[in-house]
Amino acid sequence: MSETMILVVEDDDAVRDLIAAALETQEYNCHTAANGTQALLEATAQNPDAILLDLGLPDLDGIEVIKRIRTWSNKPIIVISGRTEDKDKIEALDAGADDYLTKPFSVNELLARVRVTLRRLAYMNDETKSDSAVFRNGSLTIEYASGCAYLDGRELHLTPNEYKILCLLAKNVGKVLTRTYIIKEIWGGTWENNVASLRVFMATLRKKLQEDTAHPQLIQTHVGVGYRMLRSGGDEKGKTNRG
Ligand code: CA
Repeated sequence: MSETMILVVEDDDAVRDLIAAALETQEYNCHTAANGTQALLEATAQNPDAILLDLGLPDLDGIEVIKRIRTWSNKPIIVISGRTEDKDKIEALDAGADDYLTKPFSVNELLARVRVTLRRLAYMNDETKSDSAVFRNGSLTIEYASGCAYLDGRELHLTPNEYKILCLLAKNVGKVLTRTYIIKEIWGGTWENNVASLRVFMATLRKKLQEDTAHPQLIQTHVGVGYRMLRSGGDEKGKTNRG
């Protein structure tokens, strides 16, 4: 197995060293950058498997770095933010980030996010290879060709919109999707008209999936931000991310 390479972009030397040291204990190969310009150069030169990116950089805004990287790379980006505003996380996710961590975070939290993200990457690579017509995740099965979804082998009776939302979450399994993104994909419209509808569809969908909202197995809520389908067997199940 080839070594996994992670690019750490952070202007605070102490934090950058701490993150790099934590990743190296797990035998990840680390490259670092202290600003946005260096981050773009390293990302191009090294083509890392994943990028940990601080949003508050001295030269370029972190959001701008995400946008530029996304013009040529789909590799996972985990945003590290000192900002507590949901708005920044949403902006970063809509620009193409996969996940976010809010400072201060623990080393264990950081490593857990990296593992989830790399698992998502491995899954995406498998999907591309097999071009799978059937999605399986724990007790959930979706047969794209017939447009049917099953829970523990029993067919789920979903409305067209519930099915579309379920497929969208499944195709992005492991990734946090913002409400704005989901609304745009499902209704093609704007946020204002559909935010209440999305909430209703999510509630009915979860009920059909027999989700206990306090301990979700499949769909995690990110309060004020959006939703993520958890990958069965190892993602941080049941943990609602409020950071
Ligand atoms: Ca910073």
